[in-house]
Amino acid sequence: MAPVPENRIRPVNEAPVVPNGGFVLYWMTAARRTERNFGLQRAVEWAVELKKPLVVLEALRCGYPWASDRLHRFIMDGMADNRARLKKKPVLYYPYLERSLGEGKGLLKALSDLACNVVTDDYPAFFLPRMLEAAGKLLPIRLEAVDSNGILPLAATDRVFLTAFSFRRFLQGELREHLRSVPTKDPLSRASVPPPPVLPRKLMTRWPPATEALLRGDAAGLGAFPIDHRVEPAAIRGGAKEASAALTRFLRHRIGRYAEEGSHPDSEVTSGLSPYLHFGHVSSHEVLARLTRYEKWSVRRLGVKATGGRSGWWRMSDGAERFLDQLITWRELGYNMCSKRTDYAEYDSLPEWAKETLGKHEKDPRPHIYSLDEFEAAHTHDPLWNAAQRQLLQEGRIQNYLRMIWGKKILEWSPSPREALEVMIELNDKYALDGRDPNSYSGIFWTLGRYDRPWAPERPIFGKIRYMSSRNTARKLRLRDYLERYSG
Ligand SMILES: Cc1cc2nc3c(=O)[nH]c(=O)nc-3n(C[C@H](O)[C@H](O)[C@H](O)COP(=O)(O)OP(=O)(O)OC[C@H]3O[C@@H](n4cnc5c(N)ncnc54)[C@H](O)[C@@H]3O)c2cc1C
Repeated sequence: MAPVPENRIRPVNEAPVVPNGGFVLYWMTAARRTERNFGLQRAVEWAVELKKPLVVLEALRCGYPWASDRLHRFIMDGMADNRARLKKKPVLYYPYLERSLGEGKGLLKALSDLACNVVTDDYPAFFLPRMLEAAGKLLPIRLEAVDSNGILPLAATDRVFLTAFSFRRFLQGELREHLRSVPTKDPLSRASVPPPPVLPRKLMTRWPPATEALLRGDAAGLGAFPIDHRVEPAAIRGGAKEASAALTRFLRHRIGRYAEEGSHPDSEVTSGLSPYLHFGHVSSHEVLARLTRYEKWSVRRLGVKATGGRSGWWRMSDGAERFLDQLITWRELGYNMCSKRTDYAEYDSLPEWAKETLGKHEKDPRPHIYSLDEFEAAHTHDPLWNAAQRQLLQEGRIQNYLRMIWGKKILEWSPSPREALEVMIELNDKYALDGRDPNSYSGIFWTLGRYDRPWAPERPIFGKIRYMSSRNTARKLRLRDYLERYSG
């Protein structure tokens, strides 16, 4: 097993590793999976080196922003999967579900008082960076954060990329090396670590590990958590198994049509992987490995020239090239921003030209103005917008192309761009399974000009921001079935 690359490991504190501790603790927070996970792999490396057992803590608080039945259900599905997979492995898997606000406080510290060191996941958005920093100060032993987020390590560059083109060109120069240092498929398969420890009864009684039945969680089980029960579970289930099935469906039936039909709501040819990528139930390394096998591709085929062009560099099929541009260029562009700028979700992080043009048109009369409640309830005059919002309410997702229209219209129908931003973040992060992700902020801020350029002609409200209309979308795309399905 090749070691985890050094530029993926970040010491969070300066506390020592305690060699006579009882075990190595892997605190799974963002890469919630057992395969192709650099964090777990690093924890295994430590366990082997220190000749200590391994404990994997996967916890779910109930006080995180937008906590709801929908998000809890999806995360718990992943925990049930991890539990089943780790049952056969030489580790102690400790799934913990907080039953009341603050009940979980103290668990990480109590475990770390018994451990040699702690390894956790690095993640650049939502509350996780703050949580990690606080843990670094709290823990008396070494805490390392491991970056398993994407194909390019976050530390591979200090630059913040302002366009997809410049990032793509950078990737085309850099990626070859990183495509060769991939996480091990199953870091526990041949690991020689001592048998799992027995944890003190007092600790297990105070913070009881979640049972299999609770993780399977029916409505009554979810009902007991102090979270938002009005946001109901989505039809799709979470976890590595479901992620793998979605990827298989995509490769078998959709990728061949992805380049031509990816934008058409009635075609449904995109992968649907974003919730699984968001919760770490699948890694982009796994997606890439499966795709390259399907394409019978190897790194030797890569293009040499870094032109920044959207196609031709991978030398794969059209669908695969288009898909990789989303999965790697666009997805990791958002991670790049969040890992370098703490203001990634603030209005003032927009490019100057965008703020200037939006400011100039801030007082323009709006044809319609809706409140957050009206947007949320899909009560606008526009059937296409309402359909997209209903899909979000019911399924926790919006079809790719319509998600852009959805954001653009919130800008058009809000009293100001700042209020539009607040509405987009609130609705996206509350209802979308893939929300609260670096790409939530890429997508939302893109509708306001991030990663884009000024467009002519200058228009009311939008100024030089790219304009999109529902009428043009309805003309260009096949969406009859979509409108019918989400007609309300
Ligand atoms: C207003 C708005 C809000 C958005 N909010 C989110 C969000 O909360 N979470 C999120 O993951 N994406 C978000 N996006 C980006 C994009 O809409 C979704 O990633 C995509 O629709 C997910 O569907 P899929 O998995 O079927 O994508 P596929 O087309 O199958 O693409 C594969 C993967 O590539 C990545 N990807 C695809 N398109 C984009 C994109 N435009 N930007 C960045 N990464 C991309 C995703 O990880 C996706 O799963 C948003 C876009 C807009 C315009």
